[in-house]
Amino acid sequence: MKTSREISLERAKVLKTRIDDYLEAKKSIPKGWEQSEVIQKRKQNILTILDATEENWNDWHWQLKHRIRDVDTLLKFIRLSDAEIEEIKAVSKVYRWAISPYYLSLINVKDKMDPIRLLAIPSALELRDHTHGLDPMGEEFTNPAGTITRRYPDRLIINVTNECAMYCRHCQRRRNIGTKDRAVNKTELKKSIDYIRENEEIRDVLITGGDPFTLANQVLEWLLKELKAIPHVEYVRIGTRTPVTMPQRITDKLCTMLKKYHPIYINTHFNHPMEVTYESKMACEKLANAGIPLGNQAVLLNGINNDKFVMQCLNQELLKIRVKPYYIFHAKKVRGTMHFNTSIDDGLEIMEHLRGYTSGMAIPTYIVNAPLGKGKTPMLPQYLLSRGKDHILFRTWEGEMIHYENHPTIDLATQMKELENKS
Ligand SMILES: *Cc1c(COP(=O)(O)O)cnc(C)c1O
Ligand code: SF4
Repeated sequence: MKTSREISLERAKVLKTRIDDYLEAKKSIPKGWEQSEVIQKRKQNILTILDATEENWNDWHWQLKHRIRDVDTLLKFIRLSDAEIEEIKAVSKVYRWAISPYYLSLINVKDKMDPIRLLAIPSALELRDHTHGLDPMGEEFTNPAGTITRRYPDRLIINVTNECAMYCRHCQRRRNIGTKDRAVNKTELKKSIDYIRENEEIRDVLITGGDPFTLANQVLEWLLKELKAIPHVEYVRIGTRTPVTMPQRITDKLCTMLKKYHPIYINTHFNHPMEVTYESKMACEKLANAGIPLGNQAVLLNGINNDKFVMQCLNQELLKIRVKPYYIFHAKKVRGTMHFNTSIDDGLEIMEHLRGYTSGMAIPTYIVNAPLGKGKTPMLPQYLLSRGKDHILFRTWEGEMIHYENHPTIDLATQMKELENKS
């Protein structure tokens, strides 16, 4: 007979083999945190070229103002072939693009397949698709007032700006982004707020854009104050990519302001471990220290993160900087971004790989958005294999089949009655 210790040791040995392939793969995944020195060097180079100081770099207004948005400027930083230059010019005519100097410092310019480069620099692939629309979610038809999108019974989105710190190549909201910055129109915002005030079942309001954190603190504060004054709004969520694309935006002042309007939740949007840098860590830490729980909404993107090890690494890196993985969105069918689309199988393979192999904390929900705004729908590998009269059959994360007894629930009050009757 084996002792329980012997059995445990054998099991531990098997478990060790379950992580070998990840540990090997992880070594070659670029991580922002590990590449701090290289990023620092690139930053110095960018500062020299832009004739700017460290102080400028840390000022988000400077970052916004100095976004790279034309080929001639981009050429100062990256060598491009004539064909590439023409490509970018052609894309510029249809979709806008902009890269913050900070995000530029994450690009490995020598690698054409660098994930950061693919997310930031326009490609002619954006022009190849002519069959898909810009509004697969039918947002146009879910806008009851102002700039609201309402698809659910108890919560809704307010769109507060169409400006972002950068214009991501995979953006699922291209329709909102448009071609020009639209100044926030207080009249429109007031219409949205009035709608929320008049509809008492709305308990959860998401502020989104564009990127709400491109707005000035005063405008954000006005909005939060208005929402907080509505008794049935239980909390506010803000969706922002600035911790990833312009972490300088997360200032002490901003945090001090946000703190006054708790409960506030922030969801951000990291897609790759290379984005988890020292600077984004500082930004996320500031927000977390201000008492704001942070979640991540990644988009599953071809060539960027449609790999089970990259996704595992990303989610673990995020937990290190106090961000809880919340969703992985299946990329929608948006014109101009179709080259980033993956199969559902890619997503399911990732979900299959995460469960059991890593902490439940590191496992977001994989979501496919039903077309025309019919709702976020979770996609999971099959665990429940069959349901009998008094048994179910399921499999474990390692694929072991389990017959599990399943009896009807016996009402607790009934059980207590029975007990009484007996005594
Ligand atoms: C995604 C979304 C929400 C929030 O959904 P959760 O699953 O609660 O995070 C709310 N309203 C709209 C229109 C949405 O698209
Ligand atoms: S920050 Fe978000 S909304 Fe703005 S371009 Fe990027 S993905 Fe789109």
